[in-house]
Amino acid sequence: MPAFQTSPGMRDILPADTGRWRRLNAVFADVVGAAGYGQIITPLIEDVGVFTRIGEATDVVTKELYAFEDRGGRHVSLRPELTASVCRAFAQHRPAALPWKVWYSGPNFRQEKAQRGRYRQFDQVGVEVLGVDDAHLDVEVIALAAEFYRRLGLTQVNLVVNSLGEPEDRAAYVAALETYFADADLTEQSRSTLAKNPLRVLDSKRTEDAEAIAGAPKISDFYSTEAAAHFDMVQAGLVRLGIDFVVEPKLVRGLDYYRRTIFEFQGGTLDSAQNALGGGGRYDGLVEALGGPATPGIGFALGVDRTLLACEDEGVFAEESAPLDAFVVDVVGGQEAAAVTAELRNAGLSADRGYDNRSMKAQMKLANRSDARFAVIIGEDELAADSVVVRPMARDAGDQQTISRSDLISHLKETLDLS
Ligand code: AMP
Repeated sequence: MPAFQTSPGMRDILPADTGRWRRLNAVFADVVGAAGYGQIITPLIEDVGVFTRIGEATDVVTKELYAFEDRGGRHVSLRPELTASVCRAFAQHRPAALPWKVWYSGPNFRQEKAQRGRYRQFDQVGVEVLGVDDAHLDVEVIALAAEFYRRLGLTQVNLVVNSLGEPEDRAAYVAALETYFADADLTEQSRSTLAKNPLRVLDSKRTEDAEAIAGAPKISDFYSTEAAAHFDMVQAGLVRLGIDFVVEPKLVRGLDYYRRTIFEFQGGTLDSAQNALGGGGRYDGLVEALGGPATPGIGFALGVDRTLLACEDEGVFAEESAPLDAFVVDVVGGQEAAAVTAELRNAGLSADRGYDNRSMKAQMKLANRSDARFAVIIGEDELAADSVVVRPMARDAGDQQTISRSDLISHLKETLDLS
């Protein structure tokens, strides 16, 4: 066992898997870029206050922050999510044109108990739109996430939506929940959740809590006229776009600042405790809490790790191996390979080579393992004649050919159909 290994909940993503990460990000950038969203890159470290504004009653803030004092005595934290950072950026830069539509991608850090699909460093892709309250925007944002999953090839993703109403509706509902749960049969853990954040009791997956939760008051009985109208428009918009969804009155979201529309995408193939592929909703008050003007917002964050697990389960969006165009084998000292690989790469072809002046046999073995389309071989005879041997490898039929060095690039491009 080596002296050092990744810390609990942290992983290396190795070259065999990083291609999928890159492609996933590219698909996401494509989908949201085509809808007018611009990329935002915020720091991994912020003043801890940026994140405590998310809500003192959330696990993310109370238990999971990687917060510390830096050498300048500043209280900072690794970011646990990106919505707060985006709102901080909005309050700081005050973009004039609204709505401000941004997308992001990158790692977050939460000191959680690690298990499959739950890590301490995990990546998300997401969007936030600030400055507009229109229900059509809720539909647009949900539709973008749905389109992203569709483009990955996922079919077993279920969209659940709910509305938490206006802040006053929500407050009345929370009071009703408190009264109801006070006499209900709840587990010890849920009792303690009740004291901190009554809405989150609805989130309990413990079977002992199920009966009490099933009989709990429903948020829909507390909607104001505006909240009901907004939610109706969102549902009508989703129907109009042909996006399937289920209204789940017990859906709540972890963070305190949500209002009106909230939604979650659940992976049909994942364990229920980790089946949330991503989610989001409309929020108010966060920009203001971070020193900006009162600004409505809506967004979502989708977990990259769980999305890729769902892809594996469904057998879609597999790693694609892109074979190299050429592997250069030089048995006359290595200088020729250096020159030829550089020429090939500069001409836009992908090429690798053998090192350490190893034997022909050893280098051909490497060429095979590299899965290159062609081996380009330079021995004494070729050096003398200013030529190379081009040998098709496993993927291509045909005999090897000796061609002049100066024709190599055009020959390969033609054979690879790249010209
Ligand atoms: P949240 O920011 O908590 O709303 O989470 C949004 C999405 O990020 C979730 O649905 C997950 O897919 C993903 N996610 C959240 N926490 C973790 C974690 N600890 N490990 C892996 N993915 C996570």
